[in-house]
Amino acid sequence: MPDQPAPSIARIRVALDGPASSGKSSVGAAAARTLGLRFVDTGLIYRAMTAMALREGVALDDARALVPLAARVTLADDGTGRLTRVLLDGVDATADVHTEWVDAAVSAVSSVAEVRAALLERQRALAAEGGIVLAGRDIGTVVLPDADLKVFLDASVEERADRRIAERGLDPDGEDARLVREQLAARDYQDRNRAVAPLRAADDAVHIRTDGNAFQDTVDLVVDAIRAAAASLPATTGAAAR
Ligand code: C5P
Repeated sequence: MPDQPAPSIARIRVALDGPASSGKSSVGAAAARTLGLRFVDTGLIYRAMTAMALREGVALDDARALVPLAARVTLADDGTGRLTRVLLDGVDATADVHTEWVDAAVSAVSSVAEVRAALLERQRALAAEGGIVLAGRDIGTVVLPDADLKVFLDASVEERADRRIAERGLDPDGEDARLVREQLAARDYQDRNRAVAPLRAADDAVHIRTDGNAFQDTVDLVVDAIRAAAASLPATTGAAAR
């Protein structure tokens, strides 16, 4: 059973950033569930726009054609307080946003400044009432620079690739596994080196390295960090007072 949210936890805004396959979405969702918080993985919005662009033959750097796609993306509740379902024009396309084609193309779309600008207010609105863990690449640095807690989850590229290879049931010595390693390194490079809102830890982020950690150990570290941050929130401030 999830904990009943305590008042300060009920309005906390947690920014959870990190590179691909660092565990943001699985760890973040589990920590949020433990504490009765909402969880949103903002990468899904970039993925959804990329899936639509690929489907409709929109060039991945065509800002004018990409920006209107954002309005056609909806994140829907999966019934547990996690917005993990992706609707494109109202039709469920959750499976389509996790393909290797989207993996390969999403960093190009997310590096378009106009796309990021179009999504900024939307992400802030998701967090406005608090009680949320928002996961992404630039949440602590750009989307919620005044988040109550910023966590940067990281692991070596080898460990992150191994997790993805195991998740996909691939032969670790095979060609597909080699491609996963190559693609993850390429996405890291693009996300860290883009001109707008590059992936980096906020100066005031709590760093959690997950190499060798059991999943639940990492969840516990994040839960503890959230509880500690909630305990130090002033009793009377709320979203309106920020
Ligand atoms: O987290 P995930 O790997 O699903 O994110 C997919 C891509 O979306 C990232 O590689 C990154 O290019 C982009 N992204 C972003 N900013 C965010 C979340 C995701 O640029 N806040």
